[in-house]
Amino acid sequence: MQNEASTIKVKISSEVYKALYSFQSTNSFSVEYGGIIVGYYDATEKNYVITDITWPQKEDVQAKFRFVRKDHAHQSIMDDLWEKSGRIKSYLGEWHSHREKHPTPSWIDKNGWRKKAKEQPNYDISFFIIVGTEEIRCWYTNGKNITMINFNE
Ligand SMILES: [Zn+2]
Repeated sequence: MQNEASTIKVKISSEVYKALYSFQSTNSFSVEYGGIIVGYYDATEKNYVITDITWPQKEDVQAKFRFVRKDHAHQSIMDDLWEKSGRIKSYLGEWHSHREKHPTPSWIDKNGWRKKAKEQPNYDISFFIIVGTEEIRCWYTNGKNITMINFNE
């Protein structure tokens, strides 16, 4: 199927891939987890690469149906990654977990994603991952349309 959406590609580093699937297989999903997605755009390969993610921090809100990223540590971790990578790695989006097999974003998720994509200083789009109990799904948005996208390791 060829359409506009197929021109956007995203890859996940083996480390992040393994970390997310390991989280999925060991987590009880009693409360939501989440964090930031960090990476860069590979102009040669013409795809985005997710290289790192952050995990829930002390000040974050982890409720049964809600994850709110409140802790400043996410930003600090991201700043460190930015510096250590020679200013290549930066904010790509957000991830969180859902206690459902095939996760779908809530109305609140979608509005939050659009808002964050508009605030995103580096790229026109941002990526959002939801880790469900059986499936991990990824979307991207430019602040308007939200499109599901397959990711490769
Ligand atoms: Zn959600």
